[in-house]
Amino acid sequence: MIRICVVYPELLGTYGDAGNALVLYERARRRGLEVATTPLGPGDEVPDADVYLLGGGEDGPQRLACDLLRASSFAERVHDGALVVAVCAGLQILGQCFSVEGDDEYLGLGLVEVSTRRGRQRAVGEMASEVGERRMVGFENHGGVTALGAGVEPFGRMVVGTGNDGVVDGYRTSNIWATYAHGPVLALNPWLADEVLEHVTGTTLAPLATTADRLYAERCSSIG
Ligand code: GLN
Repeated sequence: MIRICVVYPELLGTYGDAGNALVLYERARRRGLEVATTPLGPGDEVPDADVYLLGGGEDGPQRLACDLLRASSFAERVHDGALVVAVCAGLQILGQCFSVEGDDEYLGLGLVEVSTRRGRQRAVGEMASEVGERRMVGFENHGGVTALGAGVEPFGRMVVGTGNDGVVDGYRTSNIWATYAHGPVLALNPWLADEVLEHVTGTTLAPLATTADRLYAERCSSIG
């Protein structure tokens, strides 16, 4: 059974990133895999899951989500090896610190050696990056500029758009995959959804010929 947990969709759902759970669920189901999705609500006990999904959100809810996670067993689950796929506000929360509403500095969960400050200009628009041999597409909408600590690997290298700093996007550890790409990113990039499923099942999955897979190729040629 693949257990997917959507973390605080009420707080980190502004950009539709909870759709990542639908995509994982459906691509697992079509392979005949058993899968279940649980939303985590504020105040709920963090359930055991194979993958935790964190989405983007507004500054206030982002801060609240961070406080709630800090007071929960989330970090333990991550240390135990659960996979985390984090987008934008989610990406910022997992780091050492982030700024919201101006130049204040807010303590993150400190799971990864990265920090986010306020940029001069908000990054809004289509984005594309190179992730290994793959092209990842999405859209971004954030004021944060993220700096990676020594030895922290970016998730991708920017081709179009801003990502962390105009050069790279997000970060990747063995079990924390973080990007600035909304979309939802797993809907726009089916290969990445399959990487998530392969990571949590420890298997190699046969490709699926879905409309999403066809649209991915079209999007790559139009965005860059
Ligand atoms: N509040 C954060 C920022 O503006 C995150 C925004 C988002 O999740 N899209 O940087």
